[in-house]
Amino acid sequence: MKGLYFHIPFCRSKCPYCDFYSRLPDDAMLDAYTDALCDEMSTGTRTAAFTENADLSFDTVYFGGGTPSVLGGERLLRILNEAKKAYRIAENAEITVECNPSGVDEEFFRQLAHGGVNRISLGLQSAVDAERRQLGRFADKKQVEKALKNTQKSGITNLSLDVMIGIPDQTIASLDETLQFCLSMGVPHISAYMLALEENTVFYRRRDRLNLPDEDAVCELYLHMAETLTKNGILQYEISNFAKPGFPSRHNLKYWNCEEYLGLGPSAHSFLGGKRFFFPRDTDGFIKGDCAVFDAFGGDAEEYLMLRLRLTDGVRFADYKERFDSPLPDGFLKKAHAFAGQGLMTLTDEHAALTRNGFLVSNYIVSELL
Ligand code: SF4
Repeated sequence: MKGLYFHIPFCRSKCPYCDFYSRLPDDAMLDAYTDALCDEMSTGTRTAAFTENADLSFDTVYFGGGTPSVLGGERLLRILNEAKKAYRIAENAEITVECNPSGVDEEFFRQLAHGGVNRISLGLQSAVDAERRQLGRFADKKQVEKALKNTQKSGITNLSLDVMIGIPDQTIASLDETLQFCLSMGVPHISAYMLALEENTVFYRRRDRLNLPDEDAVCELYLHMAETLTKNGILQYEISNFAKPGFPSRHNLKYWNCEEYLGLGPSAHSFLGGKRFFFPRDTDGFIKGDCAVFDAFGGDAEEYLMLRLRLTDGVRFADYKERFDSPLPDGFLKKAHAFAGQGLMTLTDEHAALTRNGFLVSNYIVSELL
């Protein structure tokens, strides 16, 4: 089965490091956008060129953004209910909503839980209030804690927290404070992303004035985080993702396993029937009915290897042979053997994978292997 993704392109304010597509909403815009998503699901006109004869059965649904919680419970559930009418959604589907801890209350989570949402991803970034403020996040630690408790009270226990490393003023001690907060809240999943300075962001323009940890310090922070989480039973399964057994994100695993998904909304990407396509970063255009645009053919061996190497499980030789009806190229194995000698990869009779030190230089390794 496939994954279904809704991009909700709205945020109440713009974080200084973010280059995701999002805009400030008003109620009329939120209603018009909800209508447009429901219209696309019931008519399929915007994706018709790519979905003809496609089996639109999904066992994961993901509301990402932007800030999906800005839509409010009613609109989110209207979209989910329309999806259940228009497509086949598996009974045991994983249904995730990304939320910002500010502006969500107990009733919001209760409403989502009642409507079938069973996974929440909350933007923590840091449990140190001074660090959060620099990142443009206004909820303090107490508010995040309250949002987490409200989620748990609603009966949704499959929770993920986003953490950032390499942020201004971060030290091992301050990262520890963040990790101890995550552990004390008992969340089963953590996504930990390194800050990237993207052009066209406030951070990029102010980069000389930010007290950013240097490259070596970021590597140290990454390794410290991975070791701390692992020691506490939250195991790494992807370069940036950690989970208790049974709690890896089923939706995101579809991307890394090179499986199919349909993405709706401006800037959302899809992979169906061997084709990759996307909607332009234009909310008004999506509302007006603009169609998805062809990007490229996808799912070839190179792309599959590149995505699978993000996972700690790496490339399983039997899976590769089954998918491409041929063994892995000799050149790949020869180079993997050399990287294994440097402690950057593990190579067994069954699989090849990057080690944690390998993840730190994954771009280099993958480009050499492929
Ligand atoms: S809330 Fe998320 S998507 Fe919105 S501006 Fe901040 S980082 Fe970007």
